[in-house]
Amino acid sequence: MSNVSKPSVISAIFGLKCASCRRGKMFKTATLSFSKPFEMNPRCPKCDANLEPEPGFYFGAMFISYAITVWPMLGFMALFRWGLGWSLFGSFGVTLIMTAILFVYIFRVSRSMYLNMMVKYKPERGAKAAEASN
Ligand SMILES: [Zn+2]
Repeated sequence: MSNVSKPSVISAIFGLKCASCRRGKMFKTATLSFSKPFEMNPRCPKCDANLEPEPGFYFGAMFISYAITVWPMLGFMALFRWGLGWSLFGSFGVTLIMTAILFVYIFRVSRSMYLNMMVKYKPERGAKAAEASN
């Protein structure tokens, strides 16, 4: 039994970490660097898990991306329009700008959620990855 702490699935999803070990990074660059925003590591740098199990694997992530973009954005628009009394054009414009800024992170989080739904956490891989990084 190892005493290595187990990262939570939430921290793995929002930290964009590999689903198998929850430690390796899924993406090559930092989200806010805005360079190569869509390039993923083909394999986990920590545990060598395959991060693209089959071609088109992340197709389903588009639906997650849609759900976590459209509904909150409609909510923000409603808030700006009726909560703060902004003009329709103003609330639409600000919502569009927010979406544009968050786009890369939403894209990445959607893939991360999808990978974490499809791939099981393997504690032994996590422990190995933790040892390797020490
Ligand atoms: Zn991994």
